[in-house]
Amino acid sequence: MEKIRMNTAIVEMDGDEMTRILWKMIKEHLLFPFVDLKTEYYDLGLQYRDETNDQVTIDAALATKKHKVAVKCATITPNAARMTEYTLKEMWKSPNGTIRAILDGTVFRAPIVVKGIEPCVKNWEKPIVIARHAYGDVYKASEMKIPGAGKAEIVYTAADGAVSKTLIHDFDGPGIVQGMHNLESSIESFARSCFRYALDVKQELWFATKDTISKQYDHTFKDIFAEIYEKEFAKAFENVGITYFYTLIDDAVARVMKSKGGFIWACKNYDGDVMSDMISSAFGSLAMMTSVLVSPEGYYEYEAAHGTVQRHYYKHLAGEETSTNSVATIFAWSGALRKRGELDGNSELMEFADRLEKATLSTIESGKMTKDLALITTMKTPTVLNSEDFIIAIAKNLK
Ligand code: NAP
Ligand code: MG
Repeated sequence: MEKIRMNTAIVEMDGDEMTRILWKMIKEHLLFPFVDLKTEYYDLGLQYRDETNDQVTIDAALATKKHKVAVKCATITPNAARMTEYTLKEMWKSPNGTIRAILDGTVFRAPIVVKGIEPCVKNWEKPIVIARHAYGDVYKASEMKIPGAGKAEIVYTAADGAVSKTLIHDFDGPGIVQGMHNLESSIESFARSCFRYALDVKQELWFATKDTISKQYDHTFKDIFAEIYEKEFAKAFENVGITYFYTLIDDAVARVMKSKGGFIWACKNYDGDVMSDMISSAFGSLAMMTSVLVSPEGYYEYEAAHGTVQRHYYKHLAGEETSTNSVATIFAWSGALRKRGELDGNSELMEFADRLEKATLSTIESGKMTKDLALITTMKTPTVLNSEDFIIAIAKNLK
């Protein structure tokens, strides 16, 4: 069989623990036999991040700016326990945070829908994609405990020294205050990433805030989205036949529950944090969620939404059999390869990505799956496969 050619490389970011094991198997069984794979490889495994003082993460992000498409394996974000486990020089920052800071993008999380794994909400027929604004608000807030009676104010001192003030509250007893911010530039990037992604996948875009209550803060989000939409995207949306829809967050939540799915839901930072956990668990499993970082300049970084599946890795190290779900990681590869094909005008590569996804889904639909899915499937007698046999079953299907 002749292998599919790639004109340009994608950036490959290897990772940690069980997902690093799956990564190798996916390449061996599902990619190398079919594609003349061209990647620029960066080892984001914790050991090498430590060796390079995390420079490898920065290099990988910069390479993504050059090649425009990256695929990333899950990586450990070090904490105190990891410091001793890996005898680290420093508690390196989350690679995803570092990459996001360099590419300045929005993360889109999409559930992979397959027959036999039914969403809890029975009218959801198609996936709901969550786009979370990953900057500011309560995550970068300053807070203060108010010990007793007194006035709390917001004070803004302009660069020229001019001062403006607003009263928060005139306390007559103890309480609490919180000051948060956002940046027009960040909200604009968020809006552009959302509109661009909606056009990419040809799905409706919903956005919601609490603008009736927050007449300056949330209203600014609403206004920026509306303005960018009218100026830059309305025509393109019309051409593709999709719509942009703004509503109040309460209304959005109610509509989401009654919808059939099949749209993108753009959320402010906190809403996105909470709603993405709700959506992913309602669709079945964290192991079936993909995630893509889309920068406003049009750089794409694909990954699985789950972590390195540490518990399974220790079983694997102890020589025990594992049944770890590789679907989201496979879809990270197919997403990246499809995007590469699209940018290069390589239709064979795009078709391969489609076939890889179909082969994965039909393997599950034929009753062969990993343990996590077997536990929640509506199928009567699923066959539970181990990590590698599941990937081999997909490879057989793909052939
Ligand atoms: P996790 O790796 O997502 O795993 C949590 C649990 O969810 C697992 O123990 C497993 O449950 C289940 N699970 C997740 N993915 C699965 C899969 N593909 N197949 C089967 N079951 C799956 O989260 P974590 O244990 O909290 O974090 C482990 C490491 O991952 C941490 O060091 C964290 O920093 C890192 N992390 C990285 C990323 C990223 O790179 N994007 C994201 C999140 C976390 P059972 O054990 O019950 O089978
Ligand atoms: Mg959360």
